[in-house]
Amino acid sequence: MSAVRPDFYAEWRARNEARLQLRESDSPQPSERVLQSIWRHQRLRRDDLRALDGRPVRVLHPGFWNKEAGPDFRGAVVQIGDDPARSGDIEIDLVSSNWRAHSHHDNPAYASVILHVVWSADDHALTTDRPALALEPSLDSPLAELQSWADSPAAETWPAALQGSCAAPLRQLSPDQAQQLLSQAALVRLQRKAREIEIRARQSGWEQALWEGIFRALGYKQNVWPMQRLAELRARLVAECSGAVHLQARLLGVAGLLPADAPALNPYLRSLWDHWWRDRENFSDVLLPKTLWRFNGLRPANQPQRRLALAAHWLFAKPLFDNLEKWFAADESSSLLPLLQSPVDDFWSWHWGLSGNRLPKPQPLLGESRATDLAVNVLIPWFWARAQSGKNTAFQRRAEQKYLDWPAAQDNAVLRLARQRLFGQPPPRWLNTAAAQQGLLQIVRDFCQHTNALCADCLFPNLAQDFARS
Ligand code: SF4
Repeated sequence: MSAVRPDFYAEWRARNEARLQLRESDSPQPSERVLQSIWRHQRLRRDDLRALDGRPVRVLHPGFWNKEAGPDFRGAVVQIGDDPARSGDIEIDLVSSNWRAHSHHDNPAYASVILHVVWSADDHALTTDRPALALEPSLDSPLAELQSWADSPAAETWPAALQGSCAAPLRQLSPDQAQQLLSQAALVRLQRKAREIEIRARQSGWEQALWEGIFRALGYKQNVWPMQRLAELRARLVAECSGAVHLQARLLGVAGLLPADAPALNPYLRSLWDHWWRDRENFSDVLLPKTLWRFNGLRPANQPQRRLALAAHWLFAKPLFDNLEKWFAADESSSLLPLLQSPVDDFWSWHWGLSGNRLPKPQPLLGESRATDLAVNVLIPWFWARAQSGKNTAFQRRAEQKYLDWPAAQDNAVLRLARQRLFGQPPPRWLNTAAAQQGLLQIVRDFCQHTNALCADCLFPNLAQDFARS
């Protein structure tokens, strides 16, 4: 094989850059992704920005790029004309008429957009119902150059100017100190969750409070309330139940999630209906409407029907509660996941939902990341609360140690943003633990959520400074 120069690709690309740029700029308009990069890094003549109605626009903070549904940037701070500075969202589109063409005007998710940023105003400029800013006349460099820059790593990096006011004092801490600070914030979060559980336990008992926490966690943020309601009906649902399938029929029936017709070709659905026909009358006073459930944005493995099927196994196999007690009392080496995984379910191990084809191989009803979520948000706080109530400080310390040692949970948009604002990019490696994640979430709750993107009046930088001196 002939030896190819290791830099052939890069050199070829550099030699042909002009042609590549020309190809990009053949298009009369940049892509929305290029516009988002331009806005994020403010590659604009910022002193000379004017809204389509002629008023000057001052961007005090461009906001944080939102990669999920909704407006493109969250929490921007913008001043238009003589109005006071406002905090809100930014939507980016190619032309101003897209505001209505994309139905943003009647979508509540876009209600807090304070500025519609477009490449150019088209014939329908007046169809937007809020201030709009065209970028085309205000770029700080020729478009072809910006298109090439938008493809480079420079455009991908987190702009240092968007870091929080606490980033500088946090840099003064040694990695050890910063870890300690986050661990302390994480313990505050643990105690807050424990307090919520303890309040519920005072009304309904410790075991019921645990089940409610478990059900809520299985509902994710979309379905917390219907799950809570099903947990409240636990005693009635399990009474005189003949097996896990019978309990699945009751849970799905009361939830309003059983399809109305029992398709002849689905024997599992038929067996659910065999049970539910007999039980339905007894539960007619507690049936939930299907409209209570949210399915958007849920992966197949996280659909509520599948989570309820798993809950039926836990409720029917009574040892779960005892097993959790043993797990907590045992050495930290014993794993939680095997306790939470159900035996192979004849139907649910092979299907994501009630409809759909059989999977080529069985899938567990619970994975590592959900087990972690249950551990840090429900189980460990529950053990901590119970230990505190029983004045068992040794068990409290045990719960804290388990909490701090737990491996990292699944990443999410809130954590990513918090990491970037507090620690910049690339984030320190030690941030990849559940304790650091929980600490970051507590700081967001205590500080970031009470101010704007400019960190106005935030006291966390003072806290970090005091911590360094302590
Ligand atoms: S709001 Fe406070 S805690 Fe959040 S990034 Fe700004 S200074 Fe840091």
